[in-house]
Amino acid sequence: MIPFNKPYLSGRETRYIEEAVRMGKISGDGAFTKRCHAFFEQQLGFHKTLLTTSGTAALEMAALLLNIQPGDEVIIPSFTFVSTANAFVLRGAKVVFADSTLENPNLDVDQLEALITPRTRAIVPVHYAGIACDMDAIMRLARKHHLLVVEDAAHAIDSYYKGQPLGQIGHLAAFSFHETKNIISGEGGLLAINQAEFARRAEIIWEKGTNRSAFFRGEVDKYTWVDIGSSFLPSDIIAAFLYAQLENLQDIQQRRKHLWTEYATQLAPLRAQSIGLPTLPDYATNNGHLFYLVCRNLQERTALIAHLRACNVLAVFHYQPLHLSPYYQAQHDGRTLPWAEHYADCLVRLPLFYELEASQQAMIIEEVNTFYSSIV
Ligand SMILES: *Cc1c(COP(=O)(O)O)cnc(C)c1O
Repeated sequence: MIPFNKPYLSGRETRYIEEAVRMGKISGDGAFTKRCHAFFEQQLGFHKTLLTTSGTAALEMAALLLNIQPGDEVIIPSFTFVSTANAFVLRGAKVVFADSTLENPNLDVDQLEALITPRTRAIVPVHYAGIACDMDAIMRLARKHHLLVVEDAAHAIDSYYKGQPLGQIGHLAAFSFHETKNIISGEGGLLAINQAEFARRAEIIWEKGTNRSAFFRGEVDKYTWVDIGSSFLPSDIIAAFLYAQLENLQDIQQRRKHLWTEYATQLAPLRAQSIGLPTLPDYATNNGHLFYLVCRNLQERTALIAHLRACNVLAVFHYQPLHLSPYYQAQHDGRTLPWAEHYADCLVRLPLFYELEASQQAMIIEEVNTFYSSIV
């Protein structure tokens, strides 16, 4: 069976974990956490970063930092993972769902301004598959209406918008290192803070509402409860695992981008049959996070997944639209969001992981083509 995903291991993960254990400090904000922060800030150019226990936790930190209050509105695409919305709903926000576009599952920027009301506080674009949203347009609207922007960059490590790294454009950004993402720590995430005014409070929220980080830097003589917060920081054992991945970021990315490009090139002829393939707007890059096809309808997708399964290939569909979810449906304002529903019904993801072999990928491509030649 070719799995849908297989977690990448550099080989140094357990060695670094042992090192962390031997150093005798395995709670949060230890030596490996600092090494990871330095990597993000010095190698990747982030202003300030904080490792979190998950991408979900990073989004929850963002909602706290934005001071989201009951009744505030936050604009979020419907075609995304639950946490993008749930983090803000936890603070009492009302989610206003944006539809996706014909070109790709990212939110439709042209329809964004119509969703803004006097209660709107923030926009949370998701860079689906690591393909950038039109950030200039989003930031322009945010400035015009005094809104804050949190990038859900869970898919978007090492991807760019007009040459600028995703996760460095909005006021805040959340990354995920869940084992299905490009670099992983089992569960894990990162909050990127791009606005200096948020940095100090972010550290406090991260450390259970205390000023412990400032205390360890010698800036205050005792540490105490100064704000709300929670335990958002991961153990240094997790950071040790993650650091081994970061050291191999280039290699991981090279392999994943190669596999992605191979799918995109070999399957391109399917466009003639009106099968959707990912397209990169000229402002966006491919980071090899996930490769998808968009079937023409739900029945076709079900049949394609079944065909691949019969050939021992595990392909999977993706998000169910949040505006129709059992939890939020009754609170949604009732607008239909046809593109979000279309991707929920028709999008299929093909296996893409570091160890996927060329021969395996060739077989997957061949079986997709066999399927489509049989149904014309
Ligand atoms: C994975 C993911 C998250 C959540 O990240 P976790 O680390 O699993 O909590 C949030 N948003 C999107 C778009 C994701 O794909």
